[in-house]
Amino acid sequence: MEINTLIVDDSKSILATTAEFLTNLNITSITCVESGEEALNLIKSGNIKFQLIFVDLNMPGMDGMELIRLLSKEHFLGGAVILSELNENIVQLAADITNESRTHLIGCINKPVTEENLSAILQKLKSLDHRTEESPENLLSVNEIENAIFDNRVIPYYQPKVNNQTGKVESLEILARISLPDKINTITASHFIGIAEDNGLIEPLTLSILRSVMKEFPTIKEEFGELCKLSLNISPLTLNNKNLPSDLVKLIGKYGYNPSDFIIEVTESYPIDNSSQLETLNRLRIRGFDVALDDYGTGYTNIQQLKKLPYTEIKIDRSLIYNIANDKLSQVVAQSLFSIFDELNVQIVAEGVELPDDLNYLNNLKIPITLQGYIVSKPKIIENICRWHQVWKKRIPHLEMVVKNG
Ligand code: C2E
Ligand code: CA
Ligand code: CA
Repeated sequence: MEINTLIVDDSKSILATTAEFLTNLNITSITCVESGEEALNLIKSGNIKFQLIFVDLNMPGMDGMELIRLLSKEHFLGGAVILSELNENIVQLAADITNESRTHLIGCINKPVTEENLSAILQKLKSLDHRTEESPENLLSVNEIENAIFDNRVIPYYQPKVNNQTGKVESLEILARISLPDKINTITASHFIGIAEDNGLIEPLTLSILRSVMKEFPTIKEEFGELCKLSLNISPLTLNNKNLPSDLVKLIGKYGYNPSDFIIEVTESYPIDNSSQLETLNRLRIRGFDVALDDYGTGYTNIQQLKKLPYTEIKIDRSLIYNIANDKLSQVVAQSLFSIFDELNVQIVAEGVELPDDLNYLNNLKIPITLQGYIVSKPKIIENICRWHQVWKKRIPHLEMVVKNG
């Protein structure tokens, strides 16, 4: 695996064993240093871009805690793993980092380090990195995307978002797929969204998918109820268009729907950094759309900035949710986020719930949150999502039991 890894520990034997385990796990680029000062200089020099850093907490001179604080000041964007037991100080460090900066504290490993706990960390890093580009041969060409838009071959898939207290489907997220004339399987979003964004096609694509969705909305309301909303993904680039809110209102109005039927999801993949984007976001809200911040925890927004933005929903990225049932540090970070947003009256969504243990953990929280992920349902075309719901409805009483007994 091409992950540039740095290990910082004052013990040579720990450096050697950790490096050996990582090599066994197919990590090829490993750098070891014996002090925080060395690590900081190396990162400041920028010669190697580290994606992952393991930091011993107890070192003479600069200790691990200080190193991680300094790294977050340097806008280090990789993942940081602490080599120590979870303790009060680490919990505080995690809280500070979430409040102020962008470093991803992805885990805490008790010594002795084992191959097993390193492997779990790598798994987590992979999910943090799931937005990395597809390899070029798998990407659609600009032409293929243009034709798909023109020929109505951008297909809406729907993935349910369910309430952890009641099991009810509160909304469905619209996820774009493209069907190619000569292929049986549809093409998933990561193979074309980036290209569409880079080539001025993201807005036509969004409007095209929305038109298809409008024709299917009556069926959705009938199966999922009048209150069920649809979540539409909007690229932050699209927010530069100040007419977006009125264009959307016009389009959905033509089919008899209201902004309150929709949640507009905006990813954190680019910072919302200019006033026209902010204005559009506010205008969407004023028009009556709900607005969600997508992939929270992967990008640019810290909590202080978030409080100033008009979001009604925060989607916690799956890198924080994956394996949460067995990861004390994720639990601490997530719980503190949950309670902050709950106080702010913002809907919380846990994204990418995949593991049964994680589902149980989230179901048993006292705070109402919304769950989305493969374990509930994969994204499906309209007929299949309706069929899924007919089975799901029968399971809801059982879910309520789980919550009550837990
Ligand atoms: P996203 O908005 O974060 O959407 C969630 C992605 O995670 C979807 O990938 C979904 O299939 C996947 N997912 C859901 N549950 C799980 C799970 O339990 N485990 C794992 N591993 N993955 C899960 P998809 O459909 O490939 O979409 C990728 C991204 O492309 C989306 O991420 C979104 O940012 C973008 N996208 C999709 N459709 C549109 C669209 O119509 N317009 C725009 N602008 N972006 C879109
Ligand atoms: Ca989304
Ligand atoms: Ca997301």
